[in-house]
Amino acid sequence: MRYNKIRKMDISNGPGVRVSVFMQGCAFNCKNCFNPETHDFAGGKEFSQETISHILQLCDNSFIAGLSILGGEPMHPKNIDGTLQLAKAFKEKFPNKTVWIWTGFLFDHGLKDNPALSFVDVIVDGQFVEELANPALKFCGSSNQRVIDVQSSLREGKVILLDEAK
Ligand code: SF4
Repeated sequence: MRYNKIRKMDISNGPGVRVSVFMQGCAFNCKNCFNPETHDFAGGKEFSQETISHILQLCDNSFIAGLSILGGEPMHPKNIDGTLQLAKAFKEKFPNKTVWIWTGFLFDHGLKDNPALSFVDVIVDGQFVEELANPALKFCGSSNQRVIDVQSSLREGKVILLDEAK
């Protein structure tokens, strides 16, 4: 699999200062996607064990609150293995920091049984819908997207939004 870019200090994708990884490849083709250069599965750079080690090194700093994984589509079948390996390695090394993932897939339609979710704190799910776009939304591009507390949702067996979680 491949990735598009890494941001070493990102304050726009999730809470606090984060390391962000943009995976390469997405088949959704949402109208006016904010990141069209990430769509081609053959683009970007190879995602390897060295890439994971490099990302973990970048995260090994007290001011880094967590890891954000975006795209492209991190949960696409072609990318999911790398996403899982990265999230697992991150959580093993930094159990008190958070993993956020942005995906066009829906939590309750195909995602919730994915083993990668054991290592994820928050998923922002749903495709970008231009007609529902709202720049005032905190972590989403359009109002159909949901910021989901993954571990509470898995425990309760239903979608729990981050704002609703205790
Ligand atoms: S799911 Fe995300 S990356 Fe893929 S086309 Fe839609 S907005 Fe773009």
